[in-house]
Amino acid sequence: MALQANIDMVYASQPCWLQDLRLALNKLSPQLQLPRNLRSMQVGEIDELRKQVSKVADEYLNSEIQRLSQTYLLCNRLEPLEDGKFTRKTRMLRHYLVLVENADYRRAITALFFGRHVFAIARLGWMKDNPIQRERRLCRFCKVVIETPEHAALQCQADLYTVNLRNNLREAVRAGNKWEIPINLTNQSSLYWFKKILFNWDLIGLCAKYMYEISVHWAKTKMFIAPEEITGNQ
Ligand SMILES: [Zn+2]
Repeated sequence: MALQANIDMVYASQPCWLQDLRLALNKLSPQLQLPRNLRSMQVGEIDELRKQVSKVADEYLNSEIQRLSQTYLLCNRLEPLEDGKFTRKTRMLRHYLVLVENADYRRAITALFFGRHVFAIARLGWMKDNPIQRERRLCRFCKVVIETPEHAALQCQADLYTVNLRNNLREAVRAGNKWEIPINLTNQSSLYWFKKILFNWDLIGLCAKYMYEISVHWAKTKMFIAPEEITGNQ
């Protein structure tokens, strides 16, 4: 009855939710159209439209993930499955949302994926009118490398508290997964290992707790901004 009433309103050019839906679809993509004849539309046509909306939404999300610098950890993400295999899916209930029970730890992981964490690479880029150049967003402890989450988590040796926590993490990873995370990592290899433990079903709980603890700790120290003449460190 409600649908029939809305269809009548569309034909009478009156505002209603079906008109809103038509506008929303058009905004999402000009290819997306309600069935031409609303009065005789079939379930199959609605199902097909629903599939097209899903496809367009996934394409849009993927292009945004590739385009935005804040979402670099999500680029080409393979989602771990319970059986140890991986899948590539744009939208699904992610492993960390299920496996990390502590809300603070879960938020720490979510913040990493969307560039809303405490580390300088994101934090010093938030000033829209005058963001600090990427090359100047150096680590607040070693003042040598751009301060990324992977640098803080696995690479920086300049803060004893972090190094001690990291050693506990390395020990747990060695005991559980038999992986030996190297002590000395390049920028690239720290990113490799960081993603490896972030996207592991068994390690995500450990990793989330670790990221929460070091995020709280790093936030207590003032960020470092390199002088303008120092560039090209990474
Ligand atoms: Zn550092």
